[in-house]
Amino acid sequence: ERGEQTLLFLNRRGYAPLTLCRACGHRLQCPNCSAWLVQHRRARRLLCHHCGHAGPIPAACPSCGAEEKLAAVGPGVERLAEEAARRWPEARLATLSSDLHQGAALKRLLEAIAEGAYDIIIGTQLIAKGHHFPNLTLAGVVDADLALETTDPRAAERTWQLLAQVAGRAGRVDKPGLALIQTHGPEHPLMAALAASDRDAFIAFERAARQAAGMPPFGRLAALIVSARDDEAAADAARRLALARPPADRVMVLGPVAAPIHRLRGRWRYRLLAQSPRAIDLSAFVRAWLSRAALPGSVRLEVDIDPYSFM
Ligand SMILES: [Zn+2]
Ligand SMILES: [Zn+2]
Repeated sequence: ERGEQTLLFLNRRGYAPLTLCRACGHRLQCPNCSAWLVQHRRARRLLCHHCGHAGPIPAACPSCGAEEKLAAVGPGVERLAEEAARRWPEARLATLSSDLHQGAALKRLLEAIAEGAYDIIIGTQLIAKGHHFPNLTLAGVVDADLALETTDPRAAERTWQLLAQVAGRAGRVDKPGLALIQTHGPEHPLMAALAASDRDAFIAFERAARQAAGMPPFGRLAALIVSARDDEAAADAARRLALARPPADRVMVLGPVAAPIHRLRGRWRYRLLAQSPRAIDLSAFVRAWLSRAALPGSVRLEVDIDPYSFM
């Protein structure tokens, strides 16, 4: 009514993260990764967001052959746009996602938004930073828990940065703004700090959590990922690598366990973690470790010191 703009933020590209057969329960999976294929309706494609595999959306279930039984499960930004169009048919809608707009087309769309050509802007993290939208006074974060549902050591930090950015898009100096955040855990210290716009409270919580867990910057961490095209070869190499660890009192080695994405780009993956206090030279420990381990040529090893992601 005031002619101002609303942002709906959902950090998930595509229409739905899962396509499921309602007849037999089959889930459409990437042939190269242990990951579901994401349904992109505008591009009429099923995409793997990990390896880039792309294929058409089938008419029949590839497992049982049932027709018109494939259901899109869960929200993506395209689905959110569809729902918003149904609910507010008179509103002018813009959907922004890195797979829909790039380069000059993206720049034009952002300019049109800034000039007030749209009422509701629906977007992924593409919309979170940069660009000043003077007329945007309401921001809604849909499914804010998404980024917290990982095992990444810095998930909370990244979630805070992203959500604080999105919330900060609503309102500027001359117009007050409002941000609404959808979460299953409003009592989570991150969400509580966000609701109070209290960055210091979040930092205090995050420091305490990392200190208690011995995570960087209070302790050191190294992630070793062993992978091979053959599952048994990868598992066996990971077990032998664990046995080859050099003696060191204050270094704890965890694993091997199947990596969160067990199969990626056709390779089966197992993870070991080494954790130590700050005073220990963990890089030297890992170098000594690797010099003692003889891995077969078919096995690949990736080492990540103070890893950003545990994928
Ligand atoms: Zn089926
Ligand atoms: Zn894949």
